[in-house]
Amino acid sequence: MAIAAKIQACIEGSSWIRKMFEEGGRLRAIHGAENVFDFTLGNPNVEPPRKFDEELLAIAQSSPPGIHRYMNNAGYDDCRAAVAELLAEKSGLEVTGSQIMMTCGAAGALNVALKTMLNPGEEVIILSPYFVEYKFYIDNHGGVPVVVPTNPDTFQLDIPAIERAITPRTRALIICSPNNPTGVVYPAESLRDLGLMIQRKERELEKPLYVISDEPYARIAYDGVVVPNLFPYVDNSLIVTSHSKDLALPGERIGYLAVNPRMTHVELFMEGAIFCNRTLGFVNAPALMQRLVAKLQRESVDIAPYQEKRDILYHYLTEMGFSMVRPDGAFYLFPRSPLADDVEFVRMAQKHQILLVPGAGFGAPGFFRIAYCVDKAMIERSLPAWRALAQEAGLR
Ligand code: PLP
Repeated sequence: MAIAAKIQACIEGSSWIRKMFEEGGRLRAIHGAENVFDFTLGNPNVEPPRKFDEELLAIAQSSPPGIHRYMNNAGYDDCRAAVAELLAEKSGLEVTGSQIMMTCGAAGALNVALKTMLNPGEEVIILSPYFVEYKFYIDNHGGVPVVVPTNPDTFQLDIPAIERAITPRTRALIICSPNNPTGVVYPAESLRDLGLMIQRKERELEKPLYVISDEPYARIAYDGVVVPNLFPYVDNSLIVTSHSKDLALPGERIGYLAVNPRMTHVELFMEGAIFCNRTLGFVNAPALMQRLVAKLQRESVDIAPYQEKRDILYHYLTEMGFSMVRPDGAFYLFPRSPLADDVEFVRMAQKHQILLVPGAGFGAPGFFRIAYCVDKAMIERSLPAWRALAQEAGLR
């Protein structure tokens, strides 16, 4: 066997999104790109804020000596301080640059966090529907994922169910708000109740239980909804995030890990994380991007076009008989599949040139995901195909 058996099995069994991507290529070749409606990828279709280009030009023109050299594995101090300043405002806690480490995206931050905390065989609770990579990241570091469903009618936290899943082997819980794939935002009361439950279990088990808040969509929330910060509610918590979505820079691999200043052994945790960033081979987050995002902490992409697309799809699809939670953030909808088998429904959609990801790919069969970070014109062109699909699937 040329590669590790485990990796071979992962390649064969894993990615619905990749399968759909390939299907998209096939359909585009047959029907033409204009007539294929691809809702599979969470790749922002907006451009970074104008200030990003201005700062990029300014750096290129001044080109200070040494800007491409190695640095402290945690990142540039001024960038860490800029991140900390905003986080201190949002959390009301005294977050400083020493609790921030710049990373290669939220994905890099998650891998660093998990490597830092996991002993072999320890359990990490993830909530379904979940971001599919969590399972692989947990496995990367010898952990065992334990899946707990969210409330199927609201996709909100089911705190009693999370509590029942906590065992002496539990090390961490990953939450994601605004959520991929459901788009829901967890309200402050929910985070407060979660924090109280975690505190009780920590006392009972006499060990820290880490809550990792994966929040690359934190600035993508609609109708004035403010995404609450987790730090005030859970002491042993971390934020892993990036500028992939809020500054539309996913290809640039820039994000950060932030540790709650109230965490027990916070300095030791940071030391561990910095070591892991180095030895996982990331070494440090991209230097040029750190220089830019240090100046862009208060910037964000324009979210109005995303909100408009959510509204168009939610309006027409519910009118056609699809049922779904109306999400407050991110750029995904997660409707119920009109057929009991979501994979069969996604195949039916392909016949109408609509590409979707089945809920099974997120640990939530019976649903499907729409990523609406696509052109509005494409959404409008797709509506007749959605109508035909709704009819074929037996909706009104
Ligand atoms: N977490 C969630 C929930 C995501 O949706 C994504 C990307 O789509 C990531 C993490 C990884 O993001 P990044 O590009 O910052 O590594």
